[in-house]
Amino acid sequence: MSADQDGPEDRLRRFATIWSRALFPVTATSLTRPEFESRLLPLARQLRAALDERVFRAAASEHVGAALVEAHCTEPEALSRTLDVVDAYLVLYCGAGAADEGAAAAETGDREELRARCSRIQHAVAAGFARALRERTRAEQEAISRAALDARGTVAEALHASEARFRAVFHGAAIGIGIADLRGTVLEVNDALIRMFGGLEHQLRGRNVAEWTHPDDSPHIWRLYEELVRGDREHYRVEKAFYRPDGTVLWTNLTVSLLRDADGVPQYQLALMEDTTERRLLNLRLRYEATHDALTGLPNRTLFFERLEKALSAGAGARFGLCYLDLDGFKTVNDSLGHAAGDRLLVEVADRLQACATAPGEMVARLGGDEFVALTTGPDTEHEVDELAGRIMNALATPIRVDGRELTVRGSIGIVEGPAAERGAAEVLRSADITMYRAKHAGGNRYELADPEADARAITRHGLTTALPVALERGEFFIEYQPLVHLGDGSVRGAEALVRWLHPQHGVISPDRFIPLAEHTGLIVPLGRWVLEQSVRQARAWEAATGADQAPGPLRVNVNLSPCQLTHPGLVSDTVEILERAGLAPASLCLEVTESALIGADDDLLKPLRRLAEMGVDIALDDFGTGYSNLANLRRLPVSILKLDRAFTQGMQHFPADPVDLKIIEGIVSLAHSLDLAVTVEGVETGAQADQLRELGCDTAQGWYYARPGPPDRLHELALADAT
Ligand code: C2E
Ligand code: CA
Ligand code: CA
Repeated sequence: MSADQDGPEDRLRRFATIWSRALFPVTATSLTRPEFESRLLPLARQLRAALDERVFRAAASEHVGAALVEAHCTEPEALSRTLDVVDAYLVLYCGAGAADEGAAAAETGDREELRARCSRIQHAVAAGFARALRERTRAEQEAISRAALDARGTVAEALHASEARFRAVFHGAAIGIGIADLRGTVLEVNDALIRMFGGLEHQLRGRNVAEWTHPDDSPHIWRLYEELVRGDREHYRVEKAFYRPDGTVLWTNLTVSLLRDADGVPQYQLALMEDTTERRLLNLRLRYEATHDALTGLPNRTLFFERLEKALSAGAGARFGLCYLDLDGFKTVNDSLGHAAGDRLLVEVADRLQACATAPGEMVARLGGDEFVALTTGPDTEHEVDELAGRIMNALATPIRVDGRELTVRGSIGIVEGPAAERGAAEVLRSADITMYRAKHAGGNRYELADPEADARAITRHGLTTALPVALERGEFFIEYQPLVHLGDGSVRGAEALVRWLHPQHGVISPDRFIPLAEHTGLIVPLGRWVLEQSVRQARAWEAATGADQAPGPLRVNVNLSPCQLTHPGLVSDTVEILERAGLAPASLCLEVTESALIGADDDLLKPLRRLAEMGVDIALDDFGTGYSNLANLRRLPVSILKLDRAFTQGMQHFPADPVDLKIIEGIVSLAHSLDLAVTVEGVETGAQADQLRELGCDTAQGWYYARPGPPDRLHELALADAT
């Protein structure tokens, strides 16, 4: 083969050839095979592009599915053959390795990616195909009902005009037409109708319409029929099934009209029928494929959700029970024995589960991976669901043979049971999922019952954690400032920045709830930087509004630092940059670090703080007295302020305060002063507390007695009020 023959274009053409060979026999087209192939070529090109493009866009492949319908490839077989061809040949002939002449074989990773891309393409093609087919059906139905109305008019006219013209319309029509008298006896049928019913005219003529009942008939079909033959209705249109003489089923769109004579007296009924059997089968099959898991044949997540929603919308008195099963240690099986063995195990598990839920109102589905659900409905699910869970545990107890090995399978089940109509499907499933994890954490191989309170906590915790990252992007955080007041003269010296989260659903959330989550997820670093940036800018704005030289000096800002921020390499450079950009003197910033974060800190951890302190930034030891730091150790730390924890002030609520407490505070204050540390007290709620703390020698205070945390402008007002 010459290099030229082997170029990407030739390979694309070969792919189109294979595809057209597969499709041509199942396509009702007037094209020749080569013509058909050239029609597929641009579609093949689109598939190749979809395989190559950096970001996958489903729309392009969906368009290919739709184009197939347009090219009359509407048989169910056409879709499945297309998917087979794409699956087997697309990567081979059109993958990057194949297209790139002379390139070394694609890396395994790349090939893996191509395979994944290829299956996304197949899904998109199937989706586009199904949608186009649905749209075409709808368009056709509209056209047919229009044609039916036209035909009815023409037939009626013809009946009145001339017998010959009527015959022409009748026999030439592409849709089935039959005429019966008002008692239901079939008088005339056209060729199209005879073909639809299997080709034998005598099987139709002379029969009574009423004989063609079918179990799928809805009752209103026959009510409409009665109304029509009584003369109370001019026509009706239904979807109806018929048994053909050979026992097979014919599905039709059926339009029946009443024909009146010239005086308007009802005379005949005229039926127009369109064969929709194939389309229906295709739709059923597409629906089946969309709602079942390919590996195990069990209903999939989509179908399960439909059923669950239905169960939850059942009327008063109805209950539901749900078992959410996750296999314990399935990953180990997959990793050690391979995916094929894992798949066989899942199939066997699926079979056993299915055998557990056979009663009416019960179903089993596979949600994905090794997660299954069993649903039971009815009035008495309270104990039924327990039994169901027991049956499932039992079914798993016998080891499963895979590749000659006996594998012991265990599972954890989360059970949710309750009255229908109280919760949505997603919420129920989430609760079951959370409960299943509880069973797993308790050691697995067991089932647990959902506990709404534990759920609620876990859900909001989970929900908040996942909402955190976007919250920063969306600007949902804001900062309140709480004044720091000089105990000697009562002047406002600065404020502590306290972050809040304005959550779109939960409203304002306090930092105690989300800071631990942010620390856990690492968001605290960007969030902390944001708080620092805002606060520094705010301090600069206060300064600009008051004048830096005004006594008692500019308003300073205190910003809290989390332990994670302390160890973050960018701390010093970020802080310097933020200060410089805002034009704020380092002495106007105080960073608060908790005592516990510094317990046992080595020099490496202290280095960045020391550097900041050398630059003139104050470091405060926050929540002092809650940890167990060695007071003598304080000398080693680069701190200049101690913030006495609120617990000390709380101890002074009662009057007179506990003399031992007072002694402790006095001791801390004198030690701090001897080390050149200023003392700030938190949580000052009353004037009496303030007086006492002043007497004990504390320097600065913060608390509701002075002000609650609030917007930055209010601080400025307080400071001004003070100055006058
Ligand atoms: P904290 O640093 O000890 O902040 C003082 C807390 O005491 C604040 O709670 C404040 O509203 C509250 N408080 C002030 N005066 C009084 C009072 O007179 N009585 C009582 N009962 N409480 C008072 P908040 O704002 O809920 O903050 C809680 C904690 O969240 C803070 O404790 C701090 O550790 C943390 N936090 C707040 N903002 C940030 C931040 O930007 N970064 C980091 N890492 N942590 C922050
Ligand atoms: Ca603080
Ligand atoms: Ca504190």
